Amino acid sequence: MQHKFLLFLFLFSLTGFSQTAPDLDQLSKVDFKTVQASISIFPSDSMVEGEMNFSFEVLQQTDSVYIDAKNMQFDNVLLNGDEITFSNDTKRLWLIHDFQPSEENQLSLNFTTKPEQTMYFINWDIPAEIDAPRQVWTQGQGKYTSHWLPSFDDVREKAVFQLTINFNTGYDVVANGTLLQKTAVNDSLVAWSYAMEKPMSSYLVAVAAGRFEKEELKTTSGIPVSLYYEPKDSLKVEPTYRYTKEIFDFLEAEIGVPYPWENYRQVPVQDFLYAGMENTETTLFANSLVVDSVGYYDRNYVSVNAHELAHQWFGNYVTAENSEHHWLQEGFATYYALLAEKEIFGEDHYYWKLFQSAEELKALSDSGKGEPLLKANASSLTYYQKGAWALHILKEKVGELVFNDAVSNYLLKNAYQSVSTDDFLAEVEESYGRFLGEFRTDWLEQSAFQGSEALESLKESEFLRNYMKIAALREVPLESKRELLEEALTIPVNDYIGQEAVYQLAGEPAIGLYKKAFESNNLYTRQAIASSLDSIPVEMKANFITLLGDESYLTVENALLKLWLQFPKETKRWLDKMKGIEGFSNKNVEMLWLVINLVTPVENRVKIQEYYEQLSSYTREFRPFEVRQNAFGYLYQINAFSDQNLIDLIKAGQHHNTRFRDFSRALLSDLLQKEEYSQRFIVLKTDLEEKDLNFLNARS
Ligand SMILES: [Zn+2]
Repeated sequence: MQHKFLLFLFLFSLTGFSQTAPDLDQLSKVDFKTVQASISIFPSDSMVEGEMNFSFEVLQQTDSVYIDAKNMQFDNVLLNGDEITFSNDTKRLWLIHDFQPSEENQLSLNFTTKPEQTMYFINWDIPAEIDAPRQVWTQGQGKYTSHWLPSFDDVREKAVFQLTINFNTGYDVVANGTLLQKTAVNDSLVAWSYAMEKPMSSYLVAVAAGRFEKEELKTTSGIPVSLYYEPKDSLKVEPTYRYTKEIFDFLEAEIGVPYPWENYRQVPVQDFLYAGMENTETTLFANSLVVDSVGYYDRNYVSVNAHELAHQWFGNYVTAENSEHHWLQEGFATYYALLAEKEIFGEDHYYWKLFQSAEELKALSDSGKGEPLLKANASSLTYYQKGAWALHILKEKVGELVFNDAVSNYLLKNAYQSVSTDDFLAEVEESYGRFLGEFRTDWLEQSAFQGSEALESLKESEFLRNYMKIAALREVPLESKRELLEEALTIPVNDYIGQEAVYQLAGEPAIGLYKKAFESNNLYTRQAIASSLDSIPVEMKANFITLLGDESYLTVENALLKLWLQFPKETKRWLDKMKGIEGFSNKNVEMLWLVINLVTPVENRVKIQEYYEQLSSYTREFRPFEVRQNAFGYLYQINAFSDQNLIDLIKAGQHHNTRFRDFSRALLSDLLQKEEYSQRFIVLKTDLEEKDLNFLNARS
């Protein structure tokens, strides 16, 4: 099951971006057909070089043709085998020539670059003896593939890509398409040749390299799917990728159009920028979503898995021509992921997620910040959630048959092309036999969220009607609602209603009701007790201790913290019980355990020093950023930064992940305002690397 706790920081940071302004000129004059590239990646130097071959058609006479290429150097630029005049303005490579209409043109070139963004080099500058994953991965959308590969920023220029990647021996390398060949170039280099059959936009080009293993499966329709993982995570493969085949089979049947590519793979990478990115056939996702069978109940990959897969149709097969139509990507991927989740987790789950997003959209709308769906550079909430809502309402209006018919026609008619909202609406109107003017105004063009229409739709769900009855009691005194809450907590307890009932007990003399909640054996109801009960009555202590054994790292972390705070004399008991549990990928349970040991020592000084060193080591540069962030947070609370931690913080302030970088900068500013720390930073300056010194000087 997926729950409200799943609305953690990733959920609204799935990718969603504006694209470049359309340049009608070039598209009407030139059509690129294929892009072949042989790329060598030098991870230790953060450098890329390559030989490329483009084939293109000239549609209209023109004096110049460009290819997007950021901060690159070129040589050997040949048009149909002959040298050609070119210029490089550091954003584009311009080919200067009298191009006449013609079909088969070949452009070849060599390039080198050190990408400033889009290609990320993880852990290549750390000492060899440190055991941490060395990876390279790319993120094209929003970052522009043209930072590492000469290509096309305009999403409407689609080409068939064939990439050969030369990379260090001993690593796995993935790129879009089918692996045709893997050949040793020499003792230290392997060439990985991938080829696609169909065209796509450049923002969907991806490369990832690292040490991975994989499990393979075939969908019912015969598509090969590879599930990648780091060797250390072999026990997490099943919970992480749970329901992958079901999701695939469901989406293929529901969308009514066969999967439009040859294969599919999913690769978890360290320090990714977002939750996931739907590169064609090659979804990359944050390895913090790799979970064990306990973490699965709190934070699983199911929703992101379905979302990125849905994009293989909505986004990759048909691509919104510009940002104004971005909902055709994110709204559809969100909606179809929700349908897949409904298939797996049931209708209550589906309505619950719609209800949650309606609450957020309504709040935004009520604050006057609502946005039309058809808007360039709108928020993720608008593109993703309002987009999904528009499709939910549209299907209710026109009926499932008409809706499904229109969606498959829309996809097939625009296959491997770019689309606008009108392309979609025209199909719905044709299948429906009526105009959709009112729907268009209310759901696509209005800034306000149609709250009452949404509420009417939500009331279709009996579960939500029951939930709303309980939620409506929040301000009612306990004595007047005791019976209703008691009923809500009677087995079988609904996950969401049980949680809501427990939240309403906070601060109330309600031991009987709490006991009922404990005995519900409902994971999420018990999770609500762990998170909302601040003071544990002695009569409930025994019940509360049982929370330490629940299959939820959120429950366990809260229970450990509260038992320790309230019963410090039994610290050793709590620590013995919870020793060796790591928790989520950010080590939430383990770090709390270490901190309790440091604050209320129950072991000898040598042991305590070891625990401090363990916690302190988690800020190091090669650790995943979610681990570092958690460690920085705890070290701040116990005021125990070592010099190394302070240096790590300076590096963290320059990290490519903006959320982590902003957190680190805020923490650094806070420390710099404290006399004690500002003095220590001054002393540290003598040992800092130049870029770190410059960064610190700019902030102090
Ligand atoms: Zn998306």
